[in-house]
Amino acid sequence: MTNTDNIPFLDLIALHSELEEELVGVFKGALRTGAFIGGPAVEKFEKDFAAFCDTKHCIGVSSGTDALRFALMAAGIGEGDIVITVPNSFIATTEAISQSGARPVFVDVDAATYNMDARRLLAHLEGNYYRDDNSGCWRDRKLGLRVAGVIPVHLYGQPADMDAIQQIADRFHLTVIEDACQAHGAEYYSNRDGRWKKAGSMGKAAAFSFYPGKNLGACGEGGAVTTNDAELAQKIRMLRDHGQAKKYFHDVEGYNGRLDAIQAGILKVKLDHLTAWNQQRRESAREYRELLSSVDSGVGLPYEPSWAKAVYHLFVVRVANRAGLQRHLGEEHIGTGIHYPVPLHLQKAYAGLGYEPGDFPVAEQAAEEILSLPMYPGLKAEQQRRIVKCIHEFARLTHSEARVMAVST
Ligand SMILES: *Cc1c(COP(=O)(O)O)cnc(C)c1O
Repeated sequence: MTNTDNIPFLDLIALHSELEEELVGVFKGALRTGAFIGGPAVEKFEKDFAAFCDTKHCIGVSSGTDALRFALMAAGIGEGDIVITVPNSFIATTEAISQSGARPVFVDVDAATYNMDARRLLAHLEGNYYRDDNSGCWRDRKLGLRVAGVIPVHLYGQPADMDAIQQIADRFHLTVIEDACQAHGAEYYSNRDGRWKKAGSMGKAAAFSFYPGKNLGACGEGGAVTTNDAELAQKIRMLRDHGQAKKYFHDVEGYNGRLDAIQAGILKVKLDHLTAWNQQRRESAREYRELLSSVDSGVGLPYEPSWAKAVYHLFVVRVANRAGLQRHLGEEHIGTGIHYPVPLHLQKAYAGLGYEPGDFPVAEQAAEEILSLPMYPGLKAEQQRRIVKCIHEFARLTHSEARVMAVST
């Protein structure tokens, strides 16, 4: 008898049904007060999320994409600048760079962590830029553009190696903006500072997304910038609100990029559970590791360095026959995802940047082999056992097929 219980890749229904009354209360509160945009709910959430991230300021905005874009613009990055990031991110990272007016440039990632490889960042900077003695900034040899910033992405909920990146950024006068859109609550042990630091508290500023599927998700769209820089925070407050510090007095042209009061209220309710949810994700990750390494599973496990406390936005394994395993799990009603199937430098949208297959071999090979297994708070150990059983079964099947092929040739 086959087990046909559906195990979704992500379960957003169970999570919210537990909080239904409280969440409906937020909506009713907004109806009663008529406060839909801005107001105390937004301010309260901003204060709480800043505290959660160990930062002085948090500015709620309408999405993670806006958070990245506003952070770059407020840091003075735009036309004529280069911002360096990784090719294995969601396109929002590079959209924000382009839409600020700057040009995205990639460096390859570390094969074990999938995050920005600081050695490659350094080699890229040393090899392709010269110091402009007039301004003190570094310019690229081909186009003469100023390299102004770097966006490490804390991919899958695991922090990038921020000490190493910050050290390089200091040398080349780069502003570091963290893409923390997958890393709410993740921590990094900084040797420089001798303590654990929260994702979102390490760069000049950081961007968070509250897209429903993120570790902290709204019931709609939302995002935030965190920073310790008061001036930057003030600029972002203006950018999100049509460039006005006072209603109808526009110092600059800005955007409609605010966080809704209802979403802020919802996020406030959910923020109180985030630490426990992240703990559950870490537990599930531990369970996957144990189960997958106790059998011949045929998959490579994610690597968590000793200086990282990942929050497992995703649990990503590697497998040679990815399409086969994904199909097999699908037939067993187990949902999976691929984050992401095409690296950014090979996307049609970026054909104009002039990259080619082979430019970033680590990211390219990962894109062929990665598979995201079900991961969400509330995932049961019993479900994980069934998932791993199916993975093991697939490994056995492919092994025996490989033997048959070896014999018949
Ligand atoms: C989700 C995400 C974003 C964008 O966030 P939105 O809220 O969807 O705009 C940016 N970067 C990364 C790495 C993400 O995962």
